[in-house]
Amino acid sequence: MHAIKLPIQVENELKKVSKVAGYLWQREWAERNAGNISMNLTSFFSKEEVLDIGEEVPFSFPGGMGGFVIYITGTGCYLRDLVDKIEEVSCILRINEKANAYSIIWGGKQHGFAPTCELISHASIHLFNSIHQPENLAVVHTHPLELICLSHHELFNNEEELNRQVWMMCPEVKVFVPKGIHCTPYALSSTSDLAKVTIEAFKKRNVSLWEKHGATAAAPDVEKAWDFLDVANKGAKLLMMCWSAGFKPSGLSDDQLKELEQFI
Ligand SMILES: [Zn+2]
Repeated sequence: MHAIKLPIQVENELKKVSKVAGYLWQREWAERNAGNISMNLTSFFSKEEVLDIGEEVPFSFPGGMGGFVIYITGTGCYLRDLVDKIEEVSCILRINEKANAYSIIWGGKQHGFAPTCELISHASIHLFNSIHQPENLAVVHTHPLELICLSHHELFNNEEELNRQVWMMCPEVKVFVPKGIHCTPYALSSTSDLAKVTIEAFKKRNVSLWEKHGATAAAPDVEKAWDFLDVANKGAKLLMMCWSAGFKPSGLSDDQLKELEQFI
């Protein structure tokens, strides 16, 4: 066993994780141990440099994930600790060739550390992205307040209409969340059912809004995943501010929304 030196690109990605974790905490989107962040780092390491580090822990990964190297936050870890204790509350793990175990090759220094119980969801999304959307290396799951509120509203049953009403609030929402929000039906946390519905969501949308729970986005890096969630939530917040003020917003027209497609 030997210590691993992180490539400079990985150091840079981890800095983005710390930065975004601070944003999530300030927004009240990451209470207690809520939320988790992961990133597929396989392409940043050579096969040899990640071999024979750490003890193997049995875990049943989806077939095809042998050799993946994944950054992921810890179970029960507080995301706000990623700001200044990232090496204690998150880790980089390598999946063995048979995809039936992982070993931690960096981080996880907190006593009793284990990867998030959402590991199966994150792993499944990374496998899907590596095949269908290989530019998307990062996955962020958090609890954005206004988006969660919208998932309790009847609009949640009409995905087209929910997107129209969120997009119509201001041009940026249409331009920067161009594929919109998926109304992802409720599934229990930490289950492969949740992984399945989330993968369905990413086939056509930028954000998976987990009914009565939170939201998840995939993007090339953690900061861009945050941007999807931030801008989508902005649309939801503006909409609900109008409702709270007692009026229905007039909104951008369908023609105005169409016109914005030139910037996408
Ligand atoms: Zn959650």
